[in-house]
Amino acid sequence: MPHPPEDADRRRTVPPVIVYPNDSLPRPDPARLARLREDLKMVGNVTVPPREGRCIEVPKGHVFRISCPEGSQVGDLNLWNVADLSERFFSGKTRALHGTHVSTGDRLWSTLPHLRPMATIIHDTLDWYGIDEFGGGVHDVIGTRCDPYTHALLSGGERYEHCCHSNLTRALADHLDLSFEDVEPHIHDVLNVFMCTGFMRDSGKYFMKASPARQGDFIEFLAEMDLLIALSACPGGDCGATHSSDEAICHPLKIEVLRPDSTLS
Ligand SMILES: [Zn+2]
Repeated sequence: MPHPPEDADRRRTVPPVIVYPNDSLPRPDPARLARLREDLKMVGNVTVPPREGRCIEVPKGHVFRISCPEGSQVGDLNLWNVADLSERFFSGKTRALHGTHVSTGDRLWSTLPHLRPMATIIHDTLDWYGIDEFGGGVHDVIGTRCDPYTHALLSGGERYEHCCHSNLTRALADHLDLSFEDVEPHIHDVLNVFMCTGFMRDSGKYFMKASPARQGDFIEFLAEMDLLIALSACPGGDCGATHSSDEAICHPLKIEVLRPDSTLS
């Protein structure tokens, strides 16, 4: 049986260093973000039915609010530059810059070589949650999205076609009037809105637990460029138990597009 080297203790006790300290990131002005919220007029909205996906465009400078109008529900979010779908949300870099979970003041960054803020979170009713005793947090950028391919791999070939990946693909295909196959390569790793996830402290394995979101909870983003966004109401519902089946209780999600009073920006 292999045994640890003699300096194992010393190797393990080397202190970690945060790679991207938050104070070195260009940050939005919190007072400006608060001002933007003072007078918002709804100019568009879409309801995402349970186990389905929908797209909506959000002009630069507008706010979009994602809410749970009926009950706890996880949403998988994709974002693109509406003028160039190759510039899209970069979940991995957002994770490196802000951490495993995002909240008010954090930004959603775009793919290289652009690396621009696509959206800034300006309000989150789940700000209070923080990191729980299991290491779990809300709104993660660590999961990828539930998809039929992983499900088939793990279930011995069983198909389930209302995974978030498929819902997002169908939503984008409908919006662009293209085929499923044409748009599937544009679907990317998501922001898991309202999802509660973390890594097990003993094994490092990715875990999920029931979302703390309740009816009326919402998160708001300022669009930093003209955006096309897609949202799937995950078939896992609050993602407390099952995925990739019709077993979980699911609710709709709502996206509202809101225009700030121009004199406040
Ligand atoms: Zn999902």
